[in-house]
Amino acid sequence: MVDIFNNKKRSEIMSNITGKNTKPELLVRKALFSEGYRYRLHRKDLPGNPDIVFPSGKKAIFINGCFWHGHNCKKAALPESNKQFWKKKINGNVKRDKTNSGKLEQIGWKSFVVWQCEIKKSTLEKKIKQIKMFLKE
Ligand SMILES: [Zn+2]
Repeated sequence: MVDIFNNKKRSEIMSNITGKNTKPELLVRKALFSEGYRYRLHRKDLPGNPDIVFPSGKKAIFINGCFWHGHNCKKAALPESNKQFWKKKINGNVKRDKTNSGKLEQIGWKSFVVWQCEIKKSTLEKKIKQIKMFLKE
């Protein structure tokens, strides 16, 4: 199988989804803020360092980059070179994510994962609705 992304695109994807304050995250934050939601960001004292945090309701939202967090979608396709390395690395990340959401649960927090590929203009509204439902739970 051929890597579906060329090198430029690949490095773009990797750089976009590694750090904090990524574009999908900003879009979600902006949408929630404009609807009156107030939140904290990147709480380092919580397992997994959730991206958007609602302390009063103990709700945490993770905006996950598809590649790094091993989403089952096109954006998460592993590069052909060093495939085993990436596989191991991503599997480790997926395991860590699971452990962290378990830890959050243990201290009474609920978590919600938003995948990078779900945040497009055409799907953002639907996703925000789901987040609002999660926050109401
Ligand atoms: Zn995805």
